[in-house]
Amino acid sequence: MTTGVRSVLIIGSGPAGLTAAIYTARANLGPLVIEGEASSSGDQPGGQLMLTTEVENYPGFVDGIQGPELMANFRAQAARFGAELVTGRVTRVDLSERPFRAWVGDEEHRARSIIISTGARALMLDLPNEQRLLGYGVSTCATCDGFFFRDEEIAVVGGGDSALEEATFLTKFASKVTVIHRRKQLRASKIMQDRAFRNPKIEFLWDSVVTDVLGADAVEGVAVRNVVTDEESTLPVAGLFVAIGHVPNTALFEGQLEMRDNGYLVTRDGSTRTSVNGVFACGDVQDSTYRQAVTAAGSGCMAAIDAERWLEHQVDAEGDAAVDVAPTPRNW
Ligand code: NAP
Repeated sequence: MTTGVRSVLIIGSGPAGLTAAIYTARANLGPLVIEGEASSSGDQPGGQLMLTTEVENYPGFVDGIQGPELMANFRAQAARFGAELVTGRVTRVDLSERPFRAWVGDEEHRARSIIISTGARALMLDLPNEQRLLGYGVSTCATCDGFFFRDEEIAVVGGGDSALEEATFLTKFASKVTVIHRRKQLRASKIMQDRAFRNPKIEFLWDSVVTDVLGADAVEGVAVRNVVTDEESTLPVAGLFVAIGHVPNTALFEGQLEMRDNGYLVTRDGSTRTSVNGVFACGDVQDSTYRQAVTAAGSGCMAAIDAERWLEHQVDAEGDAAVDVAPTPRNW
């Protein structure tokens, strides 16, 4: 089934996508948001905040707000201004000609511009009780959740820059942070290693893997196995921070949009423009550095303004026939 040509199609419904929806809806562009759907790999309509409990650092909420409630507010605000939201996963896109096309199963959507906000997901350890305790002591974001572990003992899994950055940050709150790494050598940069080794609150558990998270309603400890000796032990901690890397949700765009080596979409010149004119990207799908709800929302606003200006320019330059004009490759 094919629908008419939209001005703006937004793929993804985290803080970036829904902010883009609020702005493009208020600009009378009638956006359609394809929200995504829950999957076993942790994808969610609403994005990663649907997997967190309390959000205390989103400006404007003095007493904090639950992640799902914050996203429900974003969604209601977008709908209030006329954004249309559909639940579903985009399975294929064609960005080679305009109008651009995106399919949700058999249903084809066509649009003059596309805003991509498909986010990223934290790699997880796939432990039996990890998903159940996510948000209840298991976390993938120290900046978001570190505050809840004041004077508690916690563990961080991973040996890269993220793990050591999170561990170092967490020592502001925790009484002790144990970094559990599966080898004896860290992957992290020397400077991060030196900083962590100097920190009296950080200890290392080498050659070790976490085999499960323990606790009924909240994390009470982790089960650990030494991969050299096979010895099993329990580490009593109130929190487990999984810091083994993130992957952007960009498989859909392979071969169609320029990406960095790590798979994140390339946006240029302090804007949200991608390598295809008329296609914009915002939020974590193009940001491996900040990864915060507020920065994602900020870039969603940028994408909406970029799309609006681009659409205006198309009409000014080419009239409504611009809809059917093939996109010109951009020279960076
Ligand atoms: P990363 O460099 O890929 O490191 C991932 C770490 O997790 C590795 O130590 C890896 O172990 C471990 N790991 C992966 N899968 C695992 C599993 N299933 N079980 C246990 N351990 C597992 O990822 P990252 O630390 O997120 O960094 C990503 C990029 O961002 C890097 O280029 C990094 O330099 C950069 N970054 C920079 C900064 C900074 O400069 N401030 C901060 C954060 C990130 P092995 O070592 O055994 O493979």
